[in-house]
Amino acid sequence: MSASLIVQKFGGSSVANPERIQRVAQRVVETKRQGHQVVVVVSALGDATDELLELARQISHEPPERELDMLMATGEQVSVALLAMAIEELGEDAISLTGAQVGILTDGTHTKAKLIDINARRIFEELAKGRIVIVAGFQGVTMTQDITTLGRGGSDLTAVALAKALKAELCEIYTDVEGVFTADPRIVPTARKLSAISYDEMLEMASLGAQVMQARSIFVAKRFEVPIHVRSSFISREGTMITKAAKAMEDVVVSGVTLQKDEAKVTIRDVPDKPGMAAQIFRELAGKDINVDMIIQNVSREGSTDVSFTVVKHDLAATLRVARSVAQRIGAGEVTTDEGIAKVSIVGIGMRSHSGVAAKMFEAMARERVNIEMISTSEIKISCVIRKTHAERAVRAIHRAFGLGKR
Ligand code: ASP
Ligand code: MG
Repeated sequence: MSASLIVQKFGGSSVANPERIQRVAQRVVETKRQGHQVVVVVSALGDATDELLELARQISHEPPERELDMLMATGEQVSVALLAMAIEELGEDAISLTGAQVGILTDGTHTKAKLIDINARRIFEELAKGRIVIVAGFQGVTMTQDITTLGRGGSDLTAVALAKALKAELCEIYTDVEGVFTADPRIVPTARKLSAISYDEMLEMASLGAQVMQARSIFVAKRFEVPIHVRSSFISREGTMITKAAKAMEDVVVSGVTLQKDEAKVTIRDVPDKPGMAAQIFRELAGKDINVDMIIQNVSREGSTDVSFTVVKHDLAATLRVARSVAQRIGAGEVTTDEGIAKVSIVGIGMRSHSGVAAKMFEAMARERVNIEMISTSEIKISCVIRKTHAERAVRAIHRAFGLGKR
C-alpha cells in the first residue's frame, strides 16, 4: 500500500538564505516522518531570478528569449540542490531533479511556455526508493530539448501540475503570507484570514492583484480540482484552503475586498456615433497585445460620444500610440489619460444568489463621499474605478459595510 502523497511548494522568500533552507528541510522531513510521500517544488533563492535578469540586461537590452530561459532556469537548479543537501544532513534520502530530468514537457514559447505533459515515471521510481523528490519549479523542456520557463511566479504552476500528474492528496503552497485575507492587512488592520475560498474567487482575487499565487496555476488547479492549501512557511498555523465551492461558501456574500493601483484611464473624445467605431479601436489595441479592462461609452450627443477604458500602466505608452492613430483615422477628437485612478473590487460567489450587493458597496462609498467613475461587474465580482487618493478609505469602508473584519 502506498502512503499518501503531498506536493509542497516553497517560494523564493522561504529559501532566501541557508538558515531558511534548513528550516524548509526540517518541515519537509517532518512531513515525510508523518508517513507521507513528499514531492517538493522550490523556486529560486530570494530575488535570484530578478538578479539573473539584471545580469542579462547589463549584457544586452534585448536578450534572445531562449538564452533568457537558459539563464533563469539556473536559479531553481541552485535551490533544489541546496535543499536536497539540507535534507540529507537531517538523515533522509533526497534527490533533486530539473524540469528536464523529470520530463516537464512544454511548448517552445520561451519565457512563458505552456505545459504539454508531465512524465511522472521518474518521480514515482524515486519515491519508491523511499526518497524525498525535489523538483525545480518554473522550468520545463521542449520536445527538442530546449530549456523553457513558465512565466514569472511559475513555480506555483509546476506544483499544481505535479500534484495533478501524481494524483497527490494535497498541494501545499508555502509563502510569506499566512493565507488569503478578506483585504490587504496593511490597508485594513481588521482583515481576517479566510479558512477556505473557492477556485473562482481566488482566480478573481489573483487577477485583481492579491498576489498570493500565480493566476495561471489557480486556473489549472480549478480545471483539475487540485486541492490547495496556502500557508506560511514561517509559522505552523493553518492557512487557507482553495477548493471547489462548498455549499456553505454561498452563505458568505462577499469574501474579500481588493485594491488595484496599476491601471490608467484613457479617453477618446468625440468618437463618431456609428457602427464599427468601437470594433476598430479595440481590434487595433488587441492587435498590439494590449489588454483592456473596463470600458465605458457615454451617451451620444450630436452624433459623437466619448469612449473611456482602462489598461495597466505598463501598456499606457503603447495604448496611446494606437489610440491616437485610430482616433485620427476615424475622425475622433483628442485622446487624454488619467493615472490618478484606482480600482476597488469585491469578490464573492455568494453574489450569485444574493441581491443588493452592489447597492451596499456603492452606499459604503457614498457615505465616505467617494465618487465612482466607472463600474463593471461579473457574476462574482463588482469593480469600481475611483480617485486613487480615496482608495484606501474606500476599501476600509466597504470591508466594514460587509462585516468582513475580525469580531
Ligand atoms: N523564480 C521564478 C520567479 O521569480 C519562479 C517563481 O518564483 O515561482 O518568477
Ligand atoms: Mg521567485
